[in-house]
Amino acid sequence: MAERFDVVVIGSGPGGYAAAIRCAQRKASVAVVEKGDVGGTCLNTGCIPSKALLASVHFLTLAKHANLMGLEIGEVKPNWGKMQSRKDAIVVGFRKGVAGLVQSNGIKLYAGRGIVRPGGKVRIEAAGGAQEIEAKKVILATGSAPIEIGAFKFDGKTIISSTEALSLSAIPASMVIIGGGIIGCEMACVYAAVGCKVTIVEALESILPNEDAWVGALMTKELKKIGIESMAGQKVTGVAAGAGRAKVSLAGGTVLEAEKVLVAVGRRAVCDKETVEGLGLAMNGPAIAVNERMETSAAGVYALGDAVGTTYLAHGAFMEAEVAAANACAQREEMKAYHLVPRAVYTFPEVASVGRSEKKCADMGIATYVGKANFRSNGRSVAHNEGIGEVRVIRNTADDAIMGVTMVGATVTEMLGAARALIGSREKITEMCFPHPTVSEVLKEAWEDAFGISLHVPPRR
Ligand code: FAD
Repeated sequence: MAERFDVVVIGSGPGGYAAAIRCAQRKASVAVVEKGDVGGTCLNTGCIPSKALLASVHFLTLAKHANLMGLEIGEVKPNWGKMQSRKDAIVVGFRKGVAGLVQSNGIKLYAGRGIVRPGGKVRIEAAGGAQEIEAKKVILATGSAPIEIGAFKFDGKTIISSTEALSLSAIPASMVIIGGGIIGCEMACVYAAVGCKVTIVEALESILPNEDAWVGALMTKELKKIGIESMAGQKVTGVAAGAGRAKVSLAGGTVLEAEKVLVAVGRRAVCDKETVEGLGLAMNGPAIAVNERMETSAAGVYALGDAVGTTYLAHGAFMEAEVAAANACAQREEMKAYHLVPRAVYTFPEVASVGRSEKKCADMGIATYVGKANFRSNGRSVAHNEGIGEVRVIRNTADDAIMGVTMVGATVTEMLGAARALIGSREKITEMCFPHPTVSEVLKEAWEDAFGISLHVPPRR
């Protein structure tokens, strides 16, 4: 007889394993079906390996500039093989950790491809054969894949996706990155730091086009300082690859040559075709359509994370997992404030934002006053030789509510939690004490400046 569970989760990425654990904590019997590596994209080919490589090159850059800190440490150079094995070891460690965590919550982990059929039947296809389990409720957390462009498909060698870019066997002499979004800019920072000549080509008017224009302008300037050329407003019309090199043709007639072409134009939701068709799921393009309770069009079937195409972020998937798990366990929760999902870019310097941007407020007809403070006036930042960047806090002039925070600076992703806490506040909160000297004081100054009462920003005339 088929084993029966209260909830079966398809996919063990951050969305899948978080939903599974939340269901198990509510005393549901839970199984997770995973066809690839436990931990999904985030752990295996996304957040964690990219941050491991970024951490290595950050150290490299610090060491190269040690003289600025009064140190003499001789020649420093990257060992790409060791950087790769360090990254791989981190991934393997966390993979074991997530599998252990899932199992310690009493969740059964099945290896194989899960196909959901009507009536709560889940077929699991694995190398050793197929089996069927049954579920009262199903949560689809099947993730996403890199978007492939028909005119220049991935060949895995010269025209690559972020997956290959994280694991190249050697440092290429040159790389063209098509797409100046988060993944493109992060990978550019990795490769430029180890001596690769990197050019980013972005079709929109600026790199990081989802942020306010000042962010793209500042980042273009800062990335150039570390050897990254950004060509914005340029459409790629074709890529010709052969003999270990590629030619990238732009609409204006320019042709760029490089050893590798990384296509980083975004990701698209994926879900098993047989599941979609078998359940007759309503779709939004490639993404599974869900309501605010993460319910799909099929009764008792929920979906979340990249598979629903909302945030394409791991912490977005975590938030949706909370909602899907609650509803799958007969509680009521809704996913509402997507603009409160923070956005983090781990470049040099970093970019971090939460809430509404200045542009979004303008588009919504909201009049704003923008408080500003910069890192070059902050003691800790200057002591760390990290005075680049600024923080902007956006206040709605009609009701004084803080609408959004945008930050560019060395460690601003670590300040997103505090920035989130400011959203919706209507005055400077005196009990909120920022320790001195810390980088976070720049957030406090910008927040105060939004109300015209900054201590260290000179009055504006
Ligand atoms: P996934 O993590 O993609 O997991 C889906 C899982 O489902 C996979 O393991 C897949 O094998 C499995 N699966 C699919 N179909 C089936 C099936 N039929 N049967 C069984 N198993 C199945 N996000 C951030 O928030 N911060 C970052 O710094 C960040 N960096 C990134 C860097 C890169 C290079 C990339 C590519 C992504 C990055 N992301 C980042 C995005 C993040 O990885 C994703 O948003 C996140 O992994 C989505 O989680 P998920 O659970 O929805 O899907």
